[in-house]
Amino acid sequence: MHAEFEKLAREAAAANESYEQYLLRLTELEVAARASNALQARIRAADFPVHKDFDTFDFTAVPALNKPKMLELARGEWIEQRANACLIGSPGTGKTHCAVALGLAACRLGKRVRFYTAAALVTRLEEAQKQYQLDRVLNQLDRTDLLICDELGYLSFSRAGAELLFQVFADRYERRSLLVTSNLAFSEWGQVFQGERMTAALLDRLTHRCHIFEMNGESFRFRESMKSKKNKKSE
Ligand code: ADP
Ligand code: MG
Repeated sequence: MHAEFEKLAREAAAANESYEQYLLRLTELEVAARASNALQARIRAADFPVHKDFDTFDFTAVPALNKPKMLELARGEWIEQRANACLIGSPGTGKTHCAVALGLAACRLGKRVRFYTAAALVTRLEEAQKQYQLDRVLNQLDRTDLLICDELGYLSFSRAGAELLFQVFADRYERRSLLVTSNLAFSEWGQVFQGERMTAALLDRLTHRCHIFEMNGESFRFRESMKSKKNKKSE
């Protein structure tokens, strides 16, 4: 308001506006600026690794992906319902891209989002435990409406790491949303979590009320690099 009041007053005087109209316009400007700052702060706090949105996502490249359902999720009702989402598929099929796009959509809806790779999340939890800060970190995670856990399955964890991740997933069950991406089919998650019992208990919670997307297909990265090689050859 401080930055704009003089300019708006001049404009209002020139346009012969009433004081109420001027005040309304000034207040609207302030409200819009605050909303935009708050959104930027939420996006920063989410700590996305890249900024990818649905406008740059080519749905025709992944015919197996249910586009209407994905765009439906971008409307955020699933987060209100404390449901989960899983994006499962081979590398390069756009899982991280869609996870970030869903995260951005949630930020725009005023949700608190936090993005981690599974490996970084486990490291964070293990470090916190070592420093007797685990409760604090768990509380921080608990305050997020949507926790994104990317790349589950590329690395397997120690027993203790797997247990910490299990604790986070189980804590969120029916209270907060979780989005997990993985290159592994559910039947292979035992490799990551070690122990049939823990894997079964975890999958049971995660997949109850879960939107599951299968994103298998050719790698987008691979396809793009083949395309550019072909173009170079034909040049
Ligand atoms: P994944 O996480 O499944 O391994 P990424 O989401 O990281 O794959 O995708 C790899 C790269 O290809 C990224 O730069 C991403 O933006 C791009 N990409 C993947 N799929 C698509 C798509 N369908 N349309 C546009 N870009 C895509
Ligand atoms: Mg990825």
